[in-house]
Amino acid sequence: MIYADNAATTQLDKDAFDAMIPFMTKEYGNASQPYSFASIEKKALRDARKIIAECINASPEEIFFTSGGTESDNWAIKKGSQIYGGDVVTSQIEHHAILNACKSVSGDGVTVKYLPVDVTGVVKTIEAERMIDENTGLVSVMMANNEIGSIQPIKELAIIAHNNNALFHTDAVQAVGHIPIDVKEMNIDLLSASAHKFNGPKGIGFMYVKRGISIQPYMDGGSQESGLRAGTENVAAIVGMAIALKNNIADMQTTKDHLRRLEKIVVEKLSDRKIDYLLNGNKEKIPGNISLSFRDCEGEVILHRMDLMGICISTGSACDSVNTQVSHVIKAIGLPMDYAEGTIRVSFGRYNDENDAKTLVKALISIVG
Ligand code: PLP
Repeated sequence: MIYADNAATTQLDKDAFDAMIPFMTKEYGNASQPYSFASIEKKALRDARKIIAECINASPEEIFFTSGGTESDNWAIKKGSQIYGGDVVTSQIEHHAILNACKSVSGDGVTVKYLPVDVTGVVKTIEAERMIDENTGLVSVMMANNEIGSIQPIKELAIIAHNNNALFHTDAVQAVGHIPIDVKEMNIDLLSASAHKFNGPKGIGFMYVKRGISIQPYMDGGSQESGLRAGTENVAAIVGMAIALKNNIADMQTTKDHLRRLEKIVVEKLSDRKIDYLLNGNKEKIPGNISLSFRDCEGEVILHRMDLMGICISTGSACDSVNTQVSHVIKAIGLPMDYAEGTIRVSFGRYNDENDAKTLVKALISIVG
């Protein structure tokens, strides 16, 4: 089996798994309890928060553990939009966790505006200058797109938001652990992340909330996470998330070089064989992400034939795999219909090797060639 769908989820890091085991066996105390049996869990949460904060140049008090990207995104949109009030500006290519949360806050005096992107899937800052104004309370633009990997001009967009006294949130689920992030340098107020996209466990993530931003909790309940995210902490998953992130960041440049080599193997072979295809996304996209559109083909058919050969790829985002229509992202970049329907996403991760890339492209050519 060749797994090339790392934008959907990733294999768990071995060190992360080892670090989680004690908290799923003997160290099962509730971190909120005052007795000494819970002190190991308390320390584990403290250490994990510190590691994660260092990975994005934040302070530990600015990191809040959540159940993953979807929860962080809902929190940011539904509660972030209430901080200053006013309208929400987002982009046309956001994940459905953002798009559907935006749908839910729209109306009742809140208007949601959608920034267009260029053919490479990058938000047009000139449109942002036009759309973000004194009526805007929250701007939310993803750091990297989950379908085509395009990296967005976050720093510039945050400046435009702040110049209009609006908050800036970024859904960095596809970016954390894959590209360098400095929340201070990038001027970010709120940031969403999810562990299973960077070789951590599923069902755990975090939100960065810049110090001084008074966001309301999304979940009501106990006083965990300084009263901002109720619910007994999943200590094992939090520990695993921190170790996975630390390891991914330590190897970031090596992994990037490795993944760029794998990308090159695939696209060069397709070009050598004169296959009629388009490579989507911008040049500086998320390492390992290859969104390809083949002329007069069906992405769905390619996916199933690859599956029969033991190769996992995707037609778009994992969450859209039941919806066989052309995705909103492919529509937004304006691909011609004869290519749009033949779109697939190959996403290599750090456990893939050159043989995977060679076998994958050979299989692909046998279908589209
Ligand atoms: N945002 C983006 C950009 C994603 O790619 C995903 C997952 O595919 C999510 C949010 C949702 O994250 P989670 O699976 O942790 O809920």
